[in-house]
Amino acid sequence: MSKKEKLEIEVEVPSKKIHVEHVFCPKGHQLCDPARKIHGYPAIKLRARHKEQDGIIYLDPIYGSFDHIEEGLDLKEGDLVDFFCPECRVSLKSPEETCKLCSSPMFILYLPKGGIIEGCTKKGCYFHRMKIVDAEEQISRLFENDTLESYL
Ligand SMILES: [Zn+2]
Ligand SMILES: [Zn+2]
Repeated sequence: MSKKEKLEIEVEVPSKKIHVEHVFCPKGHQLCDPARKIHGYPAIKLRARHKEQDGIIYLDPIYGSFDHIEEGLDLKEGDLVDFFCPECRVSLKSPEETCKLCSSPMFILYLPKGGIIEGCTKKGCYFHRMKIVDAEEQISRLFENDTLESYL
């Protein structure tokens, strides 16, 4: 991305009102897996590693809800997890952000139209947030006409 000025806003999303349907790794692989559902929606499938454990974690696609499924891992509260794209294995660790609650690394997922979701990599820490990083035009549209739903 160029160094030109970009707008960045954080959206306060009402918990459990919306779910994400299109979530991507930095290389563009769709991470929502229709084969596994949580609360009736395709779960977000991530490769997860903790020490010698290597498995899959399905995240709840409902924003603000934290039910998830672990496969091949046995994690305890407080364990730190590295997340990777299950397709290309690119790391999903945020290069900059750390958790505001516990200072752990954050993972980052990409939404269509320039939005991102960041979440804490520590099991049991329920910190995540959504950011829309985008052109001014889209931001004003977001507030005027579009519902937030159209960005997910
Ligand atoms: Zn990928
Ligand atoms: Zn945290």
